[in-house]
Amino acid sequence: MKELVIATKNPDKEREIKKLLKGLKVKVVSLKRYPKAPAVREGHRSFSENALRKAMAISKFTKRPALADDSGLEVDALGGRPGIRSSRYAGKDATYEDNYLKLLKALKGKKAKDRSAQFRCVVAFCDYPKILGTVEGIIRGKIAYAPVGKNGFGYDPVFTIPKYKKTFAQLSPKLKNQISHRAKALKKARALVLKYFNSSPSKT
Ligand code: IMP
Repeated sequence: MKELVIATKNPDKEREIKKLLKGLKVKVVSLKRYPKAPAVREGHRSFSENALRKAMAISKFTKRPALADDSGLEVDALGGRPGIRSSRYAGKDATYEDNYLKLLKALKGKKAKDRSAQFRCVVAFCDYPKILGTVEGIIRGKIAYAPVGKNGFGYDPVFTIPKYKKTFAQLSPKLKNQISHRAKALKKARALVLKYFNSSPSKT
């Protein structure tokens, strides 16, 4: 069966991405299969540049088509921060909790109308040296006043979806995986993957 590599070492993202790609006639493999894969430095100018560099580097190394996501939280009142620095907002080795506590501190005293934010996810699909596409998904929400909920990862406990009046961490993983920024981007990426594998010669 043809293989597609998911270029992430984040097990939380890997779990969500694998679920969202279920049912494709492609074997989705993770970087666990490639322990010597190069670590790709992030910190470029945009989500799409980060995602493209990751997908390209992993596709080159594995000699397989690769899919990479770069994602983060953009808070309106903070001019879009933490944005591409979401995973390192509170420092290089920050935990998820360190990051969201720093965010709550930065928004201290702000009323609901000034707590708007969005998660953005960019997925890049490459088959080295070809760039096969980049796609994006966004979900709007509000930053909560305190963390609530146990599911998910990252900023999920402080990101409230107005429609459900719940944080991502309170929603079931199934529902999060239907409505999230990553779900929206991967839905579009799935179409790119299908088209590519249906039209390219067998790769094993
Ligand atoms: P990166 O894409 O590996 O640079 O990291 C993205 C960071 O954004 C994660 O470490 C989380 O802090 C945050 N993030 C991205 N997607 C989500 C999500 O679905 N829920 C919560 N936090 C997220």
